[in-house]
Amino acid sequence: MDEFELLKQEVKNCTKCDLCRTRTNVVFGEGFRNAEIMCIGEGPGYYEDQQGCPFVGKSGQLLDKILNVCGFTRSEHVFIGNIVKCRPPNNRDPLPEEREACLPYLYKQIELINPKIIILLGATALKGLIDPNARITKVRGEWMQWNNRLVMPTFHPSALLRNEKLKKPAWEDFKKVVSKYREIVNKDHFSEHC
Ligand code: SF4
Repeated sequence: MDEFELLKQEVKNCTKCDLCRTRTNVVFGEGFRNAEIMCIGEGPGYYEDQQGCPFVGKSGQLLDKILNVCGFTRSEHVFIGNIVKCRPPNNRDPLPEEREACLPYLYKQIELINPKIIILLGATALKGLIDPNARITKVRGEWMQWNNRLVMPTFHPSALLRNEKLKKPAWEDFKKVVSKYREIVNKDHFSEHC
């Protein structure tokens, strides 16, 4: 078993925080193991907890749609993970101690997958990875650096579902990702719409 599979096994059996008591499944993450793009969200919701896969509910369908329009798929270009890997009850925000307990797994995933670009989906991902005081409304759409990787913070797809007006700026953020991907990964990357 390689390091990635060992990590997956460890996470699947994790009891480091209280979220292990209420979860149905651990949601390790899903996608291409050597992806150049990693999307990071907050944590599993109801459907993700039921199925053990990230972003499978309405938000996930929207995320897949956006990625597909950009010419990206989970199987070839993107790995999708979360700040916490077990569902917080009633979809509440993860507590600081839950984030802290779980973050080392995310750091290890990033190290092993080694993406050039990280897309942070929403405030919890931004605060968890970059800065607890950062505001998504202030910094979205601006490239950041984290451990020699490029980071693009943008809105969580669930925010786009709640507020149609956020779709346009979020689309602008994803267009920046496509253009950066062409610049640093594959100049011939095809996307029908950008
Ligand atoms: S949320 Fe993370 S740290 Fe907490 S039990 Fe689940 S895998 Fe372990």
